Amino acid sequence: MRDKQEKPLLSVVLPAYNEEASVPRAARVICTLLSGADIRYELIFVDDGSRDGTWAAIQAQIAPYPQVRGVRFSRNFGKEAAIFAGLAQARGDCAVVLDCDLQHPPEKIIEMYRLWEQGFQVVEGVKVSRGKENPLHTLAARTFYSLISNATGIDMSRASDFKLLDRRAVDTLLAMREKNAFFRALSSWIGFSTAQVEFEVQPRLEGESKWSIRSLTRYALVNLTSFSAAPLQLVTLLGVVVFLCSVALGLWSLWQKVSGQALEGFTTVILLQLIIGSILMICLGIIGYYVARIYEEIKDRPRYIVAEECEDRDHDGKAETDL
Ligand code: UDP
Ligand code: MG
Repeated sequence: MRDKQEKPLLSVVLPAYNEEASVPRAARVICTLLSGADIRYELIFVDDGSRDGTWAAIQAQIAPYPQVRGVRFSRNFGKEAAIFAGLAQARGDCAVVLDCDLQHPPEKIIEMYRLWEQGFQVVEGVKVSRGKENPLHTLAARTFYSLISNATGIDMSRASDFKLLDRRAVDTLLAMREKNAFFRALSSWIGFSTAQVEFEVQPRLEGESKWSIRSLTRYALVNLTSFSAAPLQLVTLLGVVVFLCSVALGLWSLWQKVSGQALEGFTTVILLQLIIGSILMICLGIIGYYVARIYEEIKDRPRYIVAEECEDRDHDGKAETDL
């Protein structure tokens, strides 16, 4: 491990997807800030398979800021994968994750770092407000967060990916083998002594949000099902409800037969077929979804593929060769 005399190292992990405009600003702002606060740090940009000049922008930061390192994915693997890749690369005694568009205010890193120095192992950034968003988005986000909060048993309504983790917490997260790791929830789920720092989501200065409705829906579904088997129990519940209805209807048709008015049940038969048929299909769909997830996990493919890395090997005179 590190020399005891040496100041602790803070790794700053920044996932970047099509952020050529944000990267130089992020590097400048964060480096100035942390150097000013006399914190030893490294900056790890993870280029999540960007299609623009993000990788060139990251490489260009190494000359003015030798603390900068870059990892480039072979294609877009998503923000979660980028966060985990950044954490895997981190050499620090603690690591902080924040958005490269600086919607997570970098000044808060210092506040988080001081809390870490006091002994907190997980320092979570919690949103005071959600920033500017359209109302439909807010509604969808609320629904998703109330579902996931139920599933995890942790209040996630104000949670964000802006977190500082102690080395021990980072290693715990990295040891988890699940492919669809949901960083925001997992980093709370692991426990450890936790502190919170409130922040306001800043407006995005350049570029645009990478989320489409489709990608957000997918994100919500994947993360919900990776944390909760409740939808599967829903299947059983639906089965019970339908069974109760059929007992009632069965008794009713028997009564009709006994009292000699049996013929008119045709509508009921058709209705029943439709209802049961559709419920069965929904249930199969839900089960199928989980089977697909099991299939994904069992294939054991890597979460991401690194195509390239860059760093100033001479920086600090102690470039290490570990991964
Ligand atoms: N991001 C990423 N991979 C993706 C999508 C986004 O690494 O597939 C990064 C992005 O570059 C940014 C952060 O994740 O640093 C948050 O993304 P964005 O600003 O688009 O989301 P929002 O702030 O609107 O939630
Ligand atoms: Mg953003």
